[in-house]
Amino acid sequence: MNWTQKTLRKDIDCAGIGLHSGVRVAMRMRPAPPNSGIIFRRIDLDGVEIPARQEYLQRSNLATTLANGHATIGTVEHVLSAAAGLGIDNLIVEVEGKEVPILDGSASPFIYLMHEAGIRVQQAPREFIKILEPLRIEEEDKFVAVYPSDRFKISYTIDFEHPLIGEQQQTFVVTPRSFTEQIAPARTFGFLSEVEALHRNGFALGGSMENAVVIGHNSILNNQLRFEDEFVRHKILDAIGDIMLVGAPLLGHVIAYRAGHSLHVGLVETIQKATEAWRMVTWEDVVYDIASRPPYLVPARI
Ligand SMILES: [Zn+2]
Repeated sequence: MNWTQKTLRKDIDCAGIGLHSGVRVAMRMRPAPPNSGIIFRRIDLDGVEIPARQEYLQRSNLATTLANGHATIGTVEHVLSAAAGLGIDNLIVEVEGKEVPILDGSASPFIYLMHEAGIRVQQAPREFIKILEPLRIEEEDKFVAVYPSDRFKISYTIDFEHPLIGEQQQTFVVTPRSFTEQIAPARTFGFLSEVEALHRNGFALGGSMENAVVIGHNSILNNQLRFEDEFVRHKILDAIGDIMLVGAPLLGHVIAYRAGHSLHVGLVETIQKATEAWRMVTWEDVVYDIASRPPYLVPARI
């Protein structure tokens, strides 16, 4: 468990196309001081900064877009998920355009870049949002909930009518290792039948089999999947990126059923409003709390 804040050791660059805009963009990730959080910087707009927090969220069903005044930055969830997965608290993401490059549609390229830059441990304690009371929101038969836990755990169920997906379910305790090996490689996916409508509305203009799993009527157009249940794993990846907009790492068990960006973000808003349902803790508080419990309540492994 990471109990102090982390950033990168040095700057690192990459470039690629935006999933929705289809335009090539350059991106640079840079170290940031303790307690700064994750901040996007539009260097093509005089360096205007857009913090990765719920207050800056712009509603969108397709992807997560943040805005500060007229400056927006889109498709932020995969890089945010990578930072959350590795426990990177402080980071500046400079982008020369309005969208983070999609790269291969997963979080693995961001993980690779972050490891290339190196991870610096900072001398400031990490503060977590520790969930004390369950919170739950619903939308028709879909829901997302969070329950108390000493770890950041996520259980996700998807159920698509499409025969190639159907119902998939996964649970992970999110650690740098589980994230890197089991979650980060899962790619964005989309249905061939929806591509035309998306294009008409100016979305997914950069989408291709290079950066998404494309699902046809009877087959998956890409040669192979990275995991048999790659789809539910990508939903978990997206959820981790969206949930980090709450502003601090979470100690809680998130359970999502057929959810998506709007429910993930709804959970973030619900947590922020329900201040009686959680408290800020440091890792020392958590260890003290566990040590003072009767042995049968202590988890076998943290
Ligand atoms: Zn995604």
